[in-house]
Amino acid sequence: MPDRLGAPLDVPVFERLALIGFGLIGSSLARVARQKNLARRIVAIDASDTVRARVTELGLADTVTGDLVAGVRDADAIILCVPVGVCGEVAEAMRAGLKPGAIVSDVGSVKGSIVTQVAPHLPEGVHFVPAHPVAGTEQSGPDAGFPTLFLNRWCIITPPEGQDPAAIAKIRAFWEGAGSMVEEMSPAHHDLVLAITSHLPHLIAYNIVGTAADLEAVTQSEVIKFSAGGFRDFTRIAASDPTMWRDVFLNNKDAVLEMLGRFTEDLSALQRAIRYGDGEALFNHFTRTRAIRRSIIEIGQDSAAPDFGRQPKTDKDQ
Ligand code: NAP
Repeated sequence: MPDRLGAPLDVPVFERLALIGFGLIGSSLARVARQKNLARRIVAIDASDTVRARVTELGLADTVTGDLVAGVRDADAIILCVPVGVCGEVAEAMRAGLKPGAIVSDVGSVKGSIVTQVAPHLPEGVHFVPAHPVAGTEQSGPDAGFPTLFLNRWCIITPPEGQDPAAIAKIRAFWEGAGSMVEEMSPAHHDLVLAITSHLPHLIAYNIVGTAADLEAVTQSEVIKFSAGGFRDFTRIAASDPTMWRDVFLNNKDAVLEMLGRFTEDLSALQRAIRYGDGEALFNHFTRTRAIRRSIIEIGQDSAAPDFGRQPKTDKDQ
């Protein structure tokens, strides 16, 4: 796949970009915005003293503040990078500082709930273009961010109907500048697609790791020792931020429950096939799923390297 992260832009997309919440996503955006000249000035806003001190130390923004109204004042773009559950209260609290013509966006992993929470607080003349970068890691905080996080990854934008085309074009240009491929869809469709591709897999990982931890017949040390048998890959996902994922499930309840229902039915079918020794059903199922893995590799969304491209351990790592 071609490297989409080209040279820095001659003219930045935004004059003054305010990023609220400076964790993995907010700090990665600041890093790539600096590197690619996507914004002339960057304002970092975070509720935590510790995070603000670290952002200052790392030199990730021109201004660092905990004051929402002062932070968004004069910004032509404001991107909420906080957990989904607090987006409504943050929008309400920053409202007084928003200038007419400003574009408000976000990065939340759920879209329908963000629209319901944020839109009522935005004054007339302020544009709203929600977005979700389908990129991330299980790490949190400003030290976890890196400028290539969004490179060759999708960013889904879900502008409400009748939204200003110029504002949509700016958000699109911003994400393309960060190296992403951009696709537009409705918030409800986004939430359904992500329920199966991201939210359900996280729930399954949280569940399987929890079940293993609770097992009495197998010791914790055995679970850890033999984890390379498949379990290890679930533990990475199950190490994801608890606040973020609590908010995802509470705010995408309907779509997740719908997908969980289908998943449970399909799991019962596999359970039956095992119980009745139906090898053909199992073989056919596993052949179909193997083809899905191949197509993900073919479109460049993962590596075909053995063991997911993990480097073998060297003496240095021991
Ligand atoms: P994170 O690393 O935990 O960062 C969130 C930051 O927001 C923290 O510094 C947090 O401070 C701060 N914050 C929380 N409440 C705040 C408030 N009311 N006002 C100002 N700052 C506040 O989280 P993240 O992984 O960057 O996720 C942020 C958003 O990105 C979430 O909506 C998530 O759904 C979305 N997203 C995440 C991923 C991923 O893989 N991580 C991928 C795509 C999208 P404290 O530490 O003090 O709470």
